[in-house]
Amino acid sequence: MRYLRQSVLPGWGAGGQARLTRSRVLLVGLGGLGSIASLYLAAAGIGTLVINDFDTVDETNLHRQLLYGERDVGQSKTEVARTRLLALNSGIRVEALPQRLTAPELEDEVRRADLVLDTTDHYPTRYDINRLCVRHRRRLVGGSCIGYGGQLLAFDFRQVSAPCYACLYPEEMAEDPMRCGTNGVSGPVTGVLGSLAAQAVLDLLIDRDSPWPGFLWRWDARTGGLRAGRLSRDPACPVCRTVGSRARVEGSRA
Ligand SMILES: [Zn+2]
Repeated sequence: MRYLRQSVLPGWGAGGQARLTRSRVLLVGLGGLGSIASLYLAAAGIGTLVINDFDTVDETNLHRQLLYGERDVGQSKTEVARTRLLALNSGIRVEALPQRLTAPELEDEVRRADLVLDTTDHYPTRYDINRLCVRHRRRLVGGSCIGYGGQLLAFDFRQVSAPCYACLYPEEMAEDPMRCGTNGVSGPVTGVLGSLAAQAVLDLLIDRDSPWPGFLWRWDARTGGLRAGRLSRDPACPVCRTVGSRARVEGSRA
């Protein structure tokens, strides 16, 4: 009964709900987007949520990171989040990873997950996650916000022809990352993008025909406009190029 109002939706059904229950999602970054997205994902009944953030709650987080309250300042984000998410839905598993993951740990977690939601503002981690999702053919949703706007990207790497994050943003272009922490961001903007990210995650997990994979979505509160741009694969991309050629070889054998 708990999930009735979503499982009655066209394209969702009991089958989609069962897929959510069996799913394991790795969420990296419990900031503004991660806060909102994690609440919706827990409420929707994702079987296992693995939440990773090595930060503690800071007073300057509270205008947008609605998982946390005043009494949580100074506490581990993952521990506060775990308690809050389980209070929302005690029928799911929430695994807290409160440390910066080593490369082997991150790879292990990506491999074990069905989908990765990347809401970190740490660029090297973003590229690592993209590379690992391509390598292990995992679904990936990524979002970020700055100022009055934000963007969302989704990839289904089960499709061998899927573009990747590095096709759009080659690694050498990411030398000067803009971060919410230093540049400012409007709280509701992270709410909008966090909600879009949660919808994309759910749609990808239930395998509903959806508009997310292979597109870059941008929303700007100054214009109110939500715009989508189709992503194309960069044939020279050093991340997904090798996977594609290997896939073609495998395909020709079959
Ligand atoms: Zn690529």
